[in-house]
Amino acid sequence: MARSAKEQLEYYYKNREHINDLRRLRHKEHPERKKAWDRTYHQIHRKEQNERQARWRLKLRKEAILRYGGKCFCCGEDKLEFLAVHHVNGHGREHRKQVGKATSSTFYRWLIKEKRPDISVLCHNCNSSIGFYGYCPHKERR
Ligand SMILES: [Zn+2]
Ligand SMILES: [Zn+2]
Repeated sequence: MARSAKEQLEYYYKNREHINDLRRLRHKEHPERKKAWDRTYHQIHRKEQNERQARWRLKLRKEAILRYGGKCFCCGEDKLEFLAVHHVNGHGREHRKQVGKATSSTFYRWLIKEKRPDISVLCHNCNSSIGFYGYCPHKERR
């Protein structure tokens, strides 16, 4: 007969020590099972950690973009997904190295704290045009 989840949980709490003893014993007898369990646990844990980190990075990115105006300084695009912070002189990566901020989250934290005059927000379109051609057609046409 199948037990309900609640019953299973109650059973687990009532017999927790016994169950843990059994598991320990089983793991001792079957070290490969313990290894498999550790791996599963590690994977679940790592996935959670990665997701938390990704959320945290997104939050920092958003904060940094808002701090520097929240829209493309060339075309006015204001959808966060299209935006990124850039060095006006286009040497972002070099500068990132210079200041020793290896990971993007530290870079964003630094940006949020500093409010650099040589940093502005650009959308990916304007930024890649400036990167490829040295100018953005939005500006050229005027
Ligand atoms: Zn733009
Ligand atoms: Zn543009």
